[in-house]
Amino acid sequence: MSAKITAPRGTFDALPDRAAQRDAVERAARELLEPAGYGRIETPAFEATELFARGVGEATDIVRKEMYSFDDGGGRSLTLRPEGTAPVCRAYVEHGMHKLPAPVKLYYLSSFFRAERPQAGRYREFWQVGAEALGSDEPALDAELIVLLHQLLGKLGVSARLRLSSLANAQTRAAYREELAGYLRANQDRLARAVRARIELNPLRAFDSDDPATRAVMAGAPLLLDRLEAADAAHFSDVRALLDAAGVPYEIDPTLVRGLDYYTRTVFEFTSDALGAQSGVAGGGRYDGLVELLGGPPTPGIGWAAGIERMILASSSAEPAAPPPPQLYIAHDGARTAAFQLLLEARAAGLRAQMELGGRSLKGQLKHAERLGARHVAILDADGSRLDGEPATDIVKRVLAS
Ligand code: ATP
Ligand code: MG
Repeated sequence: MSAKITAPRGTFDALPDRAAQRDAVERAARELLEPAGYGRIETPAFEATELFARGVGEATDIVRKEMYSFDDGGGRSLTLRPEGTAPVCRAYVEHGMHKLPAPVKLYYLSSFFRAERPQAGRYREFWQVGAEALGSDEPALDAELIVLLHQLLGKLGVSARLRLSSLANAQTRAAYREELAGYLRANQDRLARAVRARIELNPLRAFDSDDPATRAVMAGAPLLLDRLEAADAAHFSDVRALLDAAGVPYEIDPTLVRGLDYYTRTVFEFTSDALGAQSGVAGGGRYDGLVELLGGPPTPGIGWAAGIERMILASSSAEPAAPPPPQLYIAHDGARTAAFQLLLEARAAGLRAQMELGGRSLKGQLKHAERLGARHVAILDADGSRLDGEPATDIVKRVLAS
């Protein structure tokens, strides 16, 4: 025997006994998003590396250490998509969707790739449902997207805490970044080494640190939320008022930092205690500068992504379920052609039907039908008639009527 080949570390096979759970998530997402006007989009599994370098940001963990990049053989660097927002914005520009009535609402159900250390709820290939809306900065669009995500989690029995903040606009943020970097430099002796090393690159990430001394420094740090310009503050308060009106509970977290460099204004994250260390279930935010950064016209946008595996892990209702049993099982004693014809006829009539395909004896077939939980069994004898004399085609009608 040759050496066994296993799935790459950090990946998983979604076997049929898990299909019902995954299906339930996908169905819930479709049933919420499509009536709200979101159309399905699927982009390629790999893109030009430059798309993510620009569209996620050189300073982010994703671009710095989590991307699977490779040479396409012609000297061009490609990357397995680590996230969906930049590809959707790329497609939006490429297909001239800015000419469509705004907002353009899109959703996807796709797998993504990140070179991370695998652990429970953290994989190197994982699935997300994501929604993006482009072309409007209307606060009600932010609220709509957050409410839809809240409803999706509710439908799946995921109890999660919503944290909300605003990251202002690019100018305010740049000025604040300098202010924060100055504060961090002034206190650098008390900061964890990793935080100190990132002061210039990404000072906002200092709020994410678990180090107690760093946290003590950060407790006195200036907050971006206190620096919002009037228009951004009004936008944020409109979003909050709409969430209040919708009855969606949230906490304001001025230290919420999201993984994308180009988030502006609204950012949010849903976390679940059911998940342990990998508590993030879903997150998103507004990215009003991203489309322009990718070569399109100035276009506001907002979106979120929710991890399918983490939603299933955190779900109280997503029990693995067996597929529904066949309504008709066709056993036969050599009448393969007649059995096959009956099988096709039964399926054409809409029945969940299977026939014997495993080379079993008649006795073995009946046992197998029982194991499958088949509601009815048709037994054809050698010349294709039913053993008790009923014409084979009447069986379909009888099972349909039962
Ligand atoms: P984390 O803080 O866990 O690294 P993230 O901020 O990198 O999450 P996002 O980029 O916001 O995650 O992706 C949205 C969602 O996708 C996450 O909330 C999570 O549910 C899921 N997700 C992200 N990375 C992984 C992964 N490696 N394996 C499984 N699910 C993931
Ligand atoms: Mg991550």
